[in-house]
Amino acid sequence: MTDHGEHTVDLAIIGAGPVGLYGGYYAGFRGLSVAVVDALPQVGGQVAALYPEKSIYDIAGLPAVRGQDLVDGLARQAAPFNPQYLLGTQAQRLEPAGPGWRVTTSDGRSIRAGAVIITGGVGTVSPRPLPCGEEFLGRGLEYFVPRLSAFDGKDVVVIGGGDSAVDWALAAVDRAASVTLVHRRRTFRAHAYSVHQLEAADCRLLYDSQVTAVHGGDSVEAVTVQAAGAEPVRLPAQLVVAALGFVMQLGPIEDWGLDIDLRSIRVGTSMATNLPGVYAAGDITTYPGKVKLIAVGFGEVATAVNNAAAYLDPSAAVFPGHSTDAAPAPVVRPSAEVLSA
Ligand SMILES: Cc1cc2nc3c(=O)[nH]c(=O)nc-3n(C[C@H](O)[C@H](O)[C@H](O)COP(=O)(O)OP(=O)(O)OC[C@H]3O[C@@H](n4cnc5c(N)ncnc54)[C@H](O)[C@@H]3O)c2cc1C
Repeated sequence: MTDHGEHTVDLAIIGAGPVGLYGGYYAGFRGLSVAVVDALPQVGGQVAALYPEKSIYDIAGLPAVRGQDLVDGLARQAAPFNPQYLLGTQAQRLEPAGPGWRVTTSDGRSIRAGAVIITGGVGTVSPRPLPCGEEFLGRGLEYFVPRLSAFDGKDVVVIGGGDSAVDWALAAVDRAASVTLVHRRRTFRAHAYSVHQLEAADCRLLYDSQVTAVHGGDSVEAVTVQAAGAEPVRLPAQLVVAALGFVMQLGPIEDWGLDIDLRSIRVGTSMATNLPGVYAAGDITTYPGKVKLIAVGFGEVATAVNNAAAYLDPSAAVFPGHSTDAAPAPVVRPSAEVLSA
């Protein structure tokens, strides 16, 4: 609901990663209206941004699930409750507002909420840029590949030596016309098993080498590779994946008066932070024995929402009852309302 240009909801969730999305479902299950903010243009957090095509094997009840399928399922699960998504905008300020909180976003919108759950994960994730060719971003130069079909029939050059670089190269070999991996060292940081797979695959490995230029017109056509002590060579490339790692920054959350230990928010057993009515869940939290996994985050956000429900209405029980006794209403829209910038 919009009140004087503000979204007024029971619960604001900051971060639409898997944990925030599941929080959206749980808020609906508890009868709470909810707005979910994310700096990225799409929901799904690290899963959608960094490994949408990889299989995840440790989600309870799903022996193997493709990252994007998990995200889509979480969004579908929350959809009957119509969470309001504010995407592509960063939550910049969190301030007390009457009995609740006001969250102000980088594009000037605000949410008034009785309680807040911070599911900000590792914070804002930005790829380490390639020192050359920035002008081709989105036109053949990518930092991550949202759909594997992007590799189809192309000459693909992957740059980097970590897990992401090796995984992208492995994902490309069966689809691309050619795959070349350019790594500036002789040894990889990636898992040894993946490196063995790559060495056995139809992939050209260029060690001690760097991409020094990206060429093309409307889109990428070639790259220049410089190996140590050798003449530069020009390789055809229609898709260049620069997998040089990511910079994680907690960003504005650091200035909200929360009890922060390194880049994590300290919480108690109810997932409450040091601010009244403000909870946290998922990768962003810390407590003795914390394990940063999606499975753990799901439990934490269920705890956070149920405690927030009792905080908002002290007559309400923390225990929500069983979902088997309260199936959600049929989905009224194909997906949740998206209020992107
Ligand atoms: C390559 C890789 C493989 C992995 N494999 C597994 C696995 O097999 N099993 C497993 O359990 N885990 C795995 N993980 C870890 C898993 O992805 C994380 O534990 C999970 O994503 C945490 O979910 P989250 O919702 O807490 O945070 P995130 O997924 O990090 O989402 C947080 C969201 O908050 C947003 N955000 C942060 N600050 C703000 C702000 N101020 N305003 C607006 N939005 C903000 C971010 O943009 C982001 O979208 C893997 C991670 C990687 C990188």
